[in-house]
Amino acid sequence: MTEPEVNLTKTYDAVVIGSGAAGGMACHVLTSRGMQVLLLEAGKKLPIEKELRSMEWPYDNPYRGQLPPDSHSLTFNEYTIRRPPYGAGDEKSKHLLSYVGNTDYVKNIVVDERENPFTGTNYAWVRARCLGGKTNIWGRLALRLSDFDFKAKSRDGYGEDWPISYADISPYYDRVDQYLGITGVKENLPHLPDSIFQRPTKLNCAEVTLKESIAKMGRTLTQYRAGVTTDGLKHNKYRSRCYGRGACERKGGCDIHAAFDSPTGLIYPANDTGNLTIRTNAVVREITVDPQTGKANGAHFVDNVTLKDYHVKAKVVVLAASTLESARLLLLSKSRQHPNGLANSSGHVGHNFCEHIMGPGVAGRAKNLVGKPSTLDDGRPGGFYLTRFRNLNDKHPNFIRGYGFEGGGGSTMFPRGTDAHGFGLDFKEEVRKNQGAFVSMGAFGEVLSRYENFVDLDPVVKDKWGVPALRFHYNFGDNEHRMAEDMSQTAQEMFEAAGFEIVRVTKRVLTEGWSIHELGTARMGSDPKTSVLNQFEQSHDVKNLFVVDGSAFVNASCQNPTWTIMSLCWRSCDYLADEFKKGNL
Ligand SMILES: Cc1cc2nc3c(=O)[nH]c(=O)nc-3n(C[C@H](O)[C@H](O)[C@H](O)COP(=O)(O)OP(=O)(O)OC[C@H]3O[C@@H](n4cnc5c(N)ncnc54)[C@H](O)[C@@H]3O)c2cc1C
Ligand code: SF4
Repeated sequence: MTEPEVNLTKTYDAVVIGSGAAGGMACHVLTSRGMQVLLLEAGKKLPIEKELRSMEWPYDNPYRGQLPPDSHSLTFNEYTIRRPPYGAGDEKSKHLLSYVGNTDYVKNIVVDERENPFTGTNYAWVRARCLGGKTNIWGRLALRLSDFDFKAKSRDGYGEDWPISYADISPYYDRVDQYLGITGVKENLPHLPDSIFQRPTKLNCAEVTLKESIAKMGRTLTQYRAGVTTDGLKHNKYRSRCYGRGACERKGGCDIHAAFDSPTGLIYPANDTGNLTIRTNAVVREITVDPQTGKANGAHFVDNVTLKDYHVKAKVVVLAASTLESARLLLLSKSRQHPNGLANSSGHVGHNFCEHIMGPGVAGRAKNLVGKPSTLDDGRPGGFYLTRFRNLNDKHPNFIRGYGFEGGGGSTMFPRGTDAHGFGLDFKEEVRKNQGAFVSMGAFGEVLSRYENFVDLDPVVKDKWGVPALRFHYNFGDNEHRMAEDMSQTAQEMFEAAGFEIVRVTKRVLTEGWSIHELGTARMGSDPKTSVLNQFEQSHDVKNLFVVDGSAFVNASCQNPTWTIMSLCWRSCDYLADEFKKGNL
């Protein structure tokens, strides 16, 4: 199906590129401030409820929820032994997807790796090209950053401080909490500030055991802070409150939209203002500039289906294509005034690329729960979060910064982690007896922001639309590997302290990219020589260009980024709208 023509004669107040967490928030804030906004999204608008089918039983699915036979999703081993572009060498599968694309429910949401190649070092790059981007399937863990993150350099001397502090962003975190809904429990931790929470979920027996045990070590386990509305949102007719069906665990995605996603949470309400024009299937290939002033004046895009080329005009350009795609677009947008790529006089675009390291963790068995009757433990949108405890008040001898754990335990409909092998009655009995006793957790740690970790454009390889591919120059460093050793040790130590029988300790570090938390490729800062954006995510070089996604992060912290991306974006777009009104852009 071809898309409606956009008005090519009109100069929009703003063009927003990308419709995920960042692009959706930009549309919400700018349209509510009365600006005429054009949203360009590379992918299509999927019939998302039909894709997610949260209430479908596996036995009603022809593949039991697995991928159809003509598709393949990359495994950890394949990421390890193959080099990007990953498409070559797997010609037998019609569709090749990232590791996240391993179910029938997400196969149309994540991109085909062959159509979207990249080169360089190994990277598990998960992309979702459709209206809403990755928010359609995100894991919902919604955490705030604190001054332990924003002022990390002042604490340990490494990297750069952010040009903002927690006090600057805190009112915007509050707005995001109240507009989108979040569940959790207040803990009064300085390093993980509380949100304005709706009704919390419950911890189960094994989780409470772990919580009480680690509290004696001065550590905190709290309910999963999920970007999910548990009480409902009176101001949003597109979303329902959480019914506790637990289906979002199937790899994100909630077909009643209790879990936040950008279309129902932000874009449809923005559309209702009458100030938004949505153009899907619009693959932006360049941000254009006025040859006289060097200011941004619009964008070129290729129609995803017809491959026809278009140019649209706008007074302000808001880039929100996700951290790596935004860097790619800035690098692609070369002109006489910006020969190094747009907003790149510092040479920092694509650099300081950071994220989270994952892999180490532990699985255990609460022996007192073996053989106990099953309880409804998976009827909730998440398990627990065990907060950072390293390098807060003390200094670890082997590494700087920190990590937290995501985990869960108890009875689930499809028992995982029991590690039982076999078949027949004995096997079933073994699984039934043990399943409610299992508990596991895995760590997410800060990858330091380093100039040497970067992306640039591949001189040869292009994607399906003829746009040069990204080339990765990115590896975890010594600090990350030393932190990963500590992760598995402390995981084991905490499970032992809780009296759990250890089933498995995982030391393996997953491929770079696995966390799906890419950040930092156009960082903010006060010095235009060492940063790309100012504190309002406005380009130092091009004052009517804003980059409002994870690119702007100065460091990755160890907390999941999406709630911070949206809070920063809200703050930046408020500033943008003020400046626009004053005629300063
Ligand atoms: C399985 C999974 C679990 C996750 N779990 C969590 C979690 O628990 N907590 C958390 O904080 N985060 C989580 N994330 C990450 C979270 O989804 C991202 O941080 C968030 O979506 C980033 O928002 P964004 O707008 O920057 O990018 P995206 O959501 O990726 O949106 C970018 C949009 O831009 C579009 N686009 C890209 N290039 C172009 C172009 N050239 N032209 C036009 N449009 C373009 C894309 O199609 C896409 O729609 C998870 C992600 C996944 C996939
Ligand atoms: S548990 Fe809640 S958020 Fe998750 S799929 Fe069910 S209703 Fe949606």
